[in-house]
Amino acid sequence: MTAASSFGHIIDGEEIDSLDGATFDSVDPWTREPWAQVALGGKADADRAVAAARKAFDEGPWPRMGFNERGAILHRLADLMEEHADELGLADTRDMGKPITQSRGNDVPRSALNFRFFADHARMSTAEVLPMDSGHHTYNTFAPAGVAAAISPWNFPLMQATWKVAPALAWGNTVVLKPAEDTPTSATMLGRLAKEAGMPAGVLNVVHGYGPDSAGQALTDNPAVDRITFTGDSGTGRIIMRAAAANLTPVSMELGGKGANVVFADADLDNAVDWSIRAIYTNTGQVCLAGSRLYVQRPIYDEFLSRFVAAAEAMVIGDPKEEATQIGPLVSEEHYRKVKSYVDLVPSEGKMITGGLGDGWVVKPTAVVDIAPDARLCREEIFGPVVVITPFDTEREAVELANDTRYGLNSMLFTDNLHRAHRVAGLLKGGSVWVNCFFIRDLRAPFGGSGDSGVGREGGNFSREFFTEPKAVIMQLAP
Ligand code: NAD
Repeated sequence: MTAASSFGHIIDGEEIDSLDGATFDSVDPWTREPWAQVALGGKADADRAVAAARKAFDEGPWPRMGFNERGAILHRLADLMEEHADELGLADTRDMGKPITQSRGNDVPRSALNFRFFADHARMSTAEVLPMDSGHHTYNTFAPAGVAAAISPWNFPLMQATWKVAPALAWGNTVVLKPAEDTPTSATMLGRLAKEAGMPAGVLNVVHGYGPDSAGQALTDNPAVDRITFTGDSGTGRIIMRAAAANLTPVSMELGGKGANVVFADADLDNAVDWSIRAIYTNTGQVCLAGSRLYVQRPIYDEFLSRFVAAAEAMVIGDPKEEATQIGPLVSEEHYRKVKSYVDLVPSEGKMITGGLGDGWVVKPTAVVDIAPDARLCREEIFGPVVVITPFDTEREAVELANDTRYGLNSMLFTDNLHRAHRVAGLLKGGSVWVNCFFIRDLRAPFGGSGDSGVGREGGNFSREFFTEPKAVIMQLAP
């Protein structure tokens, strides 16, 4: 596996083929042609990767290193990622059609930052000491949990993978990463760079393959895995939780979303339109946090719609490798068909005011109005560039509409009224609520959702608590 377009598993520090030699193609959704050949792993390959991670955890230096030494390797890895930003960005763009300015300009730097942040966070973390009246005190320690299986989705291939891998490694775990089958190549590149950064063999393993009856399922079934961190579809999350239950393996699940975006009449209209456009059309709508249900207060509804439509129609659709492109193709033919099925639903559920199908696997920035709250377009995660827009009259009505969803990942609101901002932020569902902005993240903050959006939170100490075994040590201070 040395050709520029060949990508192997990374197991025990070596880039290798599958045991049975099987491969699959990664298809570039813009050209709709294969561009890379990838090792296709199955159960035997996944078991081999877990065995390597287990050995590296039980016998190797990684969990026993100090935070400084481990952190230095993680920072070196971040440096290498920044040096190789062009190749990493292009890999994600070719695998999934993400505009290059987003992959190279946003995802790669943020992926490198994930390593820097969690390396420093682990090194600088404090733990509580609890003085007790009884002449004792209790202090907490956080030992690495063991082998973490990280199963990641295709929409932010490198960024989602590093969001899992970085905290797991920083806290001393070893990892088996299984990237999504549609976007495998940047994960192999990450494994290569980890070796170059001096990471010991077996600490970061990458196994490629599908989910059910393949490498993904084998990881979730393996009793030698101590943590499963998964990001993906809510239905897959349910299956993985059932598999994890057999071994009582703790899981962290970041699943789907149907984010509400509420724009009040007193909002700064330019700012609200600008963020609302980015909230739904960034990454061609393939974002769990996408502001896919937009609620606009009636006095500004018409003005908002005309500005929103003008901005949507000004977006540049094209080859995602071109700097000017803002909207690329959807990730795959299968996903295009799924999103198309929702576009086809529009005439029976509402009225399209802009957008529709483009050439190839392209769906144009699409907006739909006159939608009932129980319409499928309003309730189901489309995961494409399709927004439904609904007017409202009162604050109370807006909150009810926004919260009428089985998802609970995030919400947004736009208002210049300070009291309303705090009040409504407290009432809206979601693990994150953005006020007058969107996408801004602090890696110390909890990230995740409730209901169909997931189980648990990651970020800062939330990641520490998931990827470690917290222990209370109770000490007698005087006999
Ligand atoms: P998916 O569930 O189809 O696949 C995700 C990963 O799970 C892939 O690596 C896949 O191979 C693996 N997988 C599938 N079935 C499996 C099984 N039975 N056992 C083990 N592994 C299995 O999701 P996707 O289509 O890649 O991603 C899109 C979904 O991800 C959307 O629903 C989106 O909202 C969600 N997502 C959520 C967040 C978040 O933070 N909440 C972020 C990004 C994406």
